[in-house]
Amino acid sequence: MSQPPKVTPESDRIMSVWNLVLAYVVVLLAGLSGLIIYTELRRRRFEPTPSEDRIFRCHRCGYVYTDDPDVDRSRCSQCGQMNKAIEF
Ligand SMILES: [Zn+2]
Repeated sequence: MSQPPKVTPESDRIMSVWNLVLAYVVVLLAGLSGLIIYTELRRRRFEPTPSEDRIFRCHRCGYVYTDDPDVDRSRCSQCGQMNKAIEF
């Protein structure tokens, strides 16, 4: 006993297309929000990295400034005094 091929009505076909679209949108949104959470976590982990610059404090005027980590002495941009880096 073989059943005759069932013809799906038009409304059922449209519904299944909509279900596909809905599933696609849900998957897309889930992937997008996952990506946003991932990038946010990455950003939070890497953004507050302490700067590698050296900190200088001027002996003459007290001005605090930073310079490249490879210099031992740096000139104060306020008064021109050469200062040693602050060591922690
Ligand atoms: Zn100074």
